[in-house]
Amino acid sequence: MGAGPGDAGLMTLRAREILEDADCVVYDRLVGEGVLTFIPEGAERVDVGKSGGHHPIPQREIEAILLDRARLGKRVVRLKGGDPFLFGRGGEEAEALRAAGIPFGIVPGVTSALAVPAWAGIPVTHRGLSSALRIITAHSEKGGLPGLDFEGLARTKGETLVFLMGVKNAGALCQRLMDAGMDSGTPAAAIERGTTARQRCVTGELGSLKALMEERKITPPAILVIGPVASLAEKLDWRASLPLSGLRVAVTRPRERAGRLSRMLRDAGAEVLEFPCIATEVLSGALPPLAGFDWVGFTSVTGVQALFTRLAREERDIRELGSAGIAAIGPATAEALRLCGLRVDFMPEVYDGAHLAAGLAERGGRMLLLRAEKGSPELTDLLRERGADFSEVPLYRTHYVKASLPEDLDMAVFTSASTVRGFAACAPEGGFAAVKAVCIGVQTARAAEEAGFEQIFTAASATLPALVEAAVTAAAV
Ligand code: SAH
Repeated sequence: MGAGPGDAGLMTLRAREILEDADCVVYDRLVGEGVLTFIPEGAERVDVGKSGGHHPIPQREIEAILLDRARLGKRVVRLKGGDPFLFGRGGEEAEALRAAGIPFGIVPGVTSALAVPAWAGIPVTHRGLSSALRIITAHSEKGGLPGLDFEGLARTKGETLVFLMGVKNAGALCQRLMDAGMDSGTPAAAIERGTTARQRCVTGELGSLKALMEERKITPPAILVIGPVASLAEKLDWRASLPLSGLRVAVTRPRERAGRLSRMLRDAGAEVLEFPCIATEVLSGALPPLAGFDWVGFTSVTGVQALFTRLAREERDIRELGSAGIAAIGPATAEALRLCGLRVDFMPEVYDGAHLAAGLAERGGRMLLLRAEKGSPELTDLLRERGADFSEVPLYRTHYVKASLPEDLDMAVFTSASTVRGFAACAPEGGFAAVKAVCIGVQTARAAEEAGFEQIFTAASATLPALVEAAVTAAAV
């Protein structure tokens, strides 16, 4: 299965679907870290990472691992960077499986050979500039330049040459092409770690590429593009102006709620890693009667969903609430209620517990709070202070999801205090001082301060657009 070139947004829908059901995932070094976060919690992870021509785990052994897990009846995903059949040895592994009589399928991937130039603004063909493309390895089995028809390649005008695995041999390669007669002024580019936040692109000419790469210390993985299209990189660079371009951002909310936020951050140019720090679990047991209240307060989308799940479980009906007023802490919760056919009668101007409490206390009557177990005391403390008549029913529980923190993060985005605590729990020694915490509100920011974050940014209001705005502000600092 192809994982795409790096950015998790560039894996295919089919890959994502299959990954969700994997028992065991055998993956390479080039698989994006954001893609790896989609491996299910319970699945076995086998890292057979290869680097620059060295094969820490020999091919034979990789095949043995695949056969072994398959024979145990497991659903095994062999995850490879880019496309599995383009310089990925996918064919060899398929042959080994076929020989052993093990059924398999292939999921093509978005190859780095096309996607990495595209991310850098280089179309591999372009009317009037290039009408053909060759994708070539610049690395032979023995380590040197492969035996290619360099004279033939040098003659190609109006073609694009894309070299993979070309960092080590870049100098020899460019020289060989020039010796064979290719114009030293042919546009050329090298793109390192394409589609990730750490992408770097150098552009120049065939004659200067090696020196440029050395000067900028380009290291693998990188792609070399030689041909007239390389000259378009500057003009078509579409990522430089994106406000979060070049940043690695962790989205920490539960997976099922991460989608929209991830998308908005990606739209702004970030490399997004979904790193859910908390998971929610609907509590079991019987719900108390819901009748006889003047106000019912909801503080989260999860709470709304949990209520309906529990009512359905008990074959009960929302009409129990009768004519009680419905209060929501903010627009997302209000929208979840609206989708369940409940119009919201009160939503505070500032979307937090304190303002919800103040508004409810002002309205008075018997109140029912439907929320998380161990919900924030802010809401209830204030109601108690105001002498409000309220009861509270915990609908769901939040627990931390422990995993190792993604490396090299620039930013983490938090939509609740519990996601902050869950994040911190993944790094008991700290070590995230350099990570900017972008928080949805003051409660969350307070939790970030307590957890030891040093750079904290708070959204102007508790909404996703404002949160993304705060991330953009954080990026500029
Ligand atoms: N099957 C892969 C290619 C594997 S060969 C694919 O289809 O993309 C490994 C080479 O791919 C690397 O040496 C490098 O040249 C290229 N490569 C893979 N991912 C890359 C990335 N994100 N940025 C730059 N080059 C990459």
